[in-house]
Amino acid sequence: MQLTGIHHLTAISAHAKGNLAFYTGVLGMRLVKKTVNQDDVSAYHLFYADGKASPGTDLTFFDWPTAREHRGTHSVARTGLRVNGEKALGFWQDRLLKLGVHTGKVTEVDGRLTLPFEDPEGQRLVLVDDGGTGEANPWEKSPVQAEHQIRGLGPIVLNVPELSRTERALVDVMNMKRVRDYASPDGEHRIHVYAMGAGGPAAEIHVIEQKDLPPARQGAGGVHHVAFRTPDEASYHAWTKRLSEFGINHSGEIDRFYFRSLYFREPNGILFEIATDGPGFATDEAMETLGEKLALPPFLEPRRKEIEAGLKPLK
Ligand code: ZN
Repeated sequence: MQLTGIHHLTAISAHAKGNLAFYTGVLGMRLVKKTVNQDDVSAYHLFYADGKASPGTDLTFFDWPTAREHRGTHSVARTGLRVNGEKALGFWQDRLLKLGVHTGKVTEVDGRLTLPFEDPEGQRLVLVDDGGTGEANPWEKSPVQAEHQIRGLGPIVLNVPELSRTERALVDVMNMKRVRDYASPDGEHRIHVYAMGAGGPAAEIHVIEQKDLPPARQGAGGVHHVAFRTPDEASYHAWTKRLSEFGINHSGEIDRFYFRSLYFREPNGILFEIATDGPGFATDEAMETLGEKLALPPFLEPRRKEIEAGLKPLK
């Protein structure tokens, strides 16, 4: 039984309007769903993805009016966004510079060209050349030309105080393979690479062990959780059973309407989710108009007026 890649990553923003402007206007991603946090309906939950809202491409944000994240261990340290080829990285370096976004340099890391940068709230991101592997579904209304658009997520970098504990979860429970390690760009750490499914940049977790760093305090500019893909309902139920057999505390199966979810914490405390590829974002809206109006799952629909009144305008 194999997870097939990164499904989505959910991060935290304290400024929904600026977040929308950055991810659609600067990064050129498609807003594919504008909804509310199902556990706190005063907060937006915004989903950015490729042109078809494909699994493996969603970067999502909870809009919470919180302080900035204090960076540290027990957290996701950087999120990879895949692009195709060296030319794309040159394009992005120029574009981000022109739009006032500070970036690092285009550098080869772990055999791939990368360009690290941060969003306006300090969310750590990196563009990674995936060599054009796998699918691309560009968004025709993006301000970024199709060939240079972000193709999806991966790899995701975790920072933990004790590698062996996280490794046991990734390898023994989640059936990933430890495939290699490499030196961090500053030369100070080894980064360990775990692959799931067919592997490659869309299906890797990179782990840094840092014993000397305090634990992160979650906040704006940080990550809430990372989700992994499972192809169908049968494999999803099998994962639920497997976590129970290992004695791992988990959320139980939760229907998130656009996909089915199962949450648990790996042993260093980072929140993981296993999510099904389907049914997808076009279950309650037409593919052409995804994200244009506030979408609510059926159980919240009766409260639409009240929920809409409690949300800030995004434009
Ligand atoms: Zn999630």
